[in-house]
Amino acid sequence: MNQNIAHAVFFRYLAPEFFIIFAPQNQKFMTQNICPNYQSCRLVNLDSFPVGESEKQTYLQNWCLRDEAGWSRCKRYITREELGFCPDFVFPDSNWSTREIMDKFDEEEV
Ligand code: SF4
Repeated sequence: MNQNIAHAVFFRYLAPEFFIIFAPQNQKFMTQNICPNYQSCRLVNLDSFPVGESEKQTYLQNWCLRDEAGWSRCKRYITREELGFCPDFVFPDSNWSTREIMDKFDEEEV
């Protein structure tokens, strides 16, 4: 038994309280269970974002604080992946195409 396995067995079975405290964190696993954009998304972090509180909570539950199967379907996430940014008029369940979003954004900028 190599040393790493021996340590793993010790911490997992003989000292489970140490396993809980010192077990290595799997950063990738943790971040995949929340949207990668969560810390910077304006819908989540901007108090003045144009969305009601109950609607925002629904978005958080159904998209942001989910595994990849949830947040990867969010239109805000998809738009940011494709354009590098996401305008505030786009919501997780918006049905606009990326082209339509660009056109609307251009209209609002004029
Ligand atoms: S609204 Fe979309 S892009 Fe923003 S944090 Fe939630 S899932 Fe991610």
